[in-house]
Amino acid sequence: MKEIQYVFMDIDGVLYRGQYPINGAKEFIDYLIQQEIKFICVTNNSAKTPADYSKRLKDLGINIGENEIINSGVATVEFLKDTYLKEKDSLSAYVVGGDGLMSLIKNSGIKIQEKNPDIVIVGWDITFTYEKMKKASLAIQNGAIYIGTNPDLTYPSHEGILPGCGAILASITAASGVEPIIIGKPKSLIMEMASKRISAKKEKSLMIGDRIDTDILAGRNFGIQTALVLSGVVDRSELSKSHIKPDYVFEDMMDLYINLKESRKV
Ligand SMILES: [Mg+2]
Repeated sequence: MKEIQYVFMDIDGVLYRGQYPINGAKEFIDYLIQQEIKFICVTNNSAKTPADYSKRLKDLGINIGENEIINSGVATVEFLKDTYLKEKDSLSAYVVGGDGLMSLIKNSGIKIQEKNPDIVIVGWDITFTYEKMKKASLAIQNGAIYIGTNPDLTYPSHEGILPGCGAILASITAASGVEPIIIGKPKSLIMEMASKRISAKKEKSLMIGDRIDTDILAGRNFGIQTALVLSGVVDRSELSKSHIKPDYVFEDMMDLYINLKESRKV
């Protein structure tokens, strides 16, 4: 790990869990800043904006600015700007998603419309209904491009395991017969955008996450080293069952921080 100069990391289960910061998160970020190791947070959650995330992290004493955060909503808008919005003067979209995603799309200049949109954009939406599924499915069958912000099937909460964005996408796929273009982890699109922002060199980059099927696989797909922290959704027994193995495993950010610091002394 001593060669690491660029760090990509997930937020939920890595830097904080619910209302509490993860042990060592503050110390780790302070160390990265002090050592001039560039870092970027990459999250699949599109319900909140990077500014919301930054505020929440800073309230917990973790010093991360909004430019050091990319979520799947931001990545979706950047992807649209780089592709379809470049080809056309104007673009319209039907959006299924939370307030964060909705405001990002409105601010990008994409017109929100329900009838005959060019694109259907789907993120995690706690007010998802049959009516929304119907509108999305009809638009896709009419030729609209179908985009999903992230593929997470579930979302862990204090109530238990809740349906995630991937579950909503699956219902629209079942109704329309069309698979979405996925932007978030484990796809490389969001990793490429994050990488561009910190001008990362792959051979000196590390991806840190608490999920194997999104975070670790995203790092693997992108061709960088990976570290799993056990402070989130995955424990050792789940890790032993997985065929995807991270390069490193740590209890939490404190464990990772101590190891990184030691390896850089040598
Ligand atoms: Mg996580």
